[in-house]
Amino acid sequence: TFISFEGGDGSGKSTQLAALAEWLRGRGHEVVVTREPGGTALGTEVRGIVLDARNAGAISPRAEALLYAADRADHVERVIRPALERGAVVLTDRYIDSSLAYQGGGRELSQREVELLSRWATQGLMPDVTILLDLDPTVAAGRRTGPADRLELESADFHRRVRNHYLELAEADPQRFVVIDAAAPIDQITGRIRARLEGRIHL
Ligand code: C5P
Repeated sequence: TFISFEGGDGSGKSTQLAALAEWLRGRGHEVVVTREPGGTALGTEVRGIVLDARNAGAISPRAEALLYAADRADHVERVIRPALERGAVVLTDRYIDSSLAYQGGGRELSQREVELLSRWATQGLMPDVTILLDLDPTVAAGRRTGPADRLELESADFHRRVRNHYLELAEADPQRFVVIDAAAPIDQITGRIRARLEGRIHL
């Protein structure tokens, strides 16, 4: 079973992913927790390159898209597919929808081209379920998850485009997406994710 977590910066993905992993392990599943960018040794290098360049405001949108795609190709081939083949549950913090929302929505590259690039990189591997933690970016900014506030690196408009793009993706594919209101208290979100997953997949 392949589950991706998506959402804007500061939406609480990592916290919820860790809680779900613990719960699934308690039920006897082998759980592989991973993330993008940075799920492999190569991916970790790519993460450093792409985030440093972005933070310095020195990256072209197409180069950025290609670097995320390179990370994803390595991630799928070397971590995700092997884990799925041995029957593990894979939980990834970000996957293809991050590219669609950030490079497509945020950077305004062609949605179709970004999708083709990512489909090529992954050889078409899609999550069984995608949990979208939806949060108004102004609320996320108020949470300030780190000292170098990630949200301030891009304009408010950029974050709004990312959020709206995520919501459009979810609306277009209700079979795959579970949309969760990430403004709720943490424990409530954890409970809702479990309840929605139990209704959808055999765990
Ligand atoms: O979620 P995490 O903090 O690991 O993401 C790292 C950064 O990379 C975030 O600021 C996110 O906005 C950005 N990102 C992106 N496009 C992607 C994946 C991540 O802009 N496809």
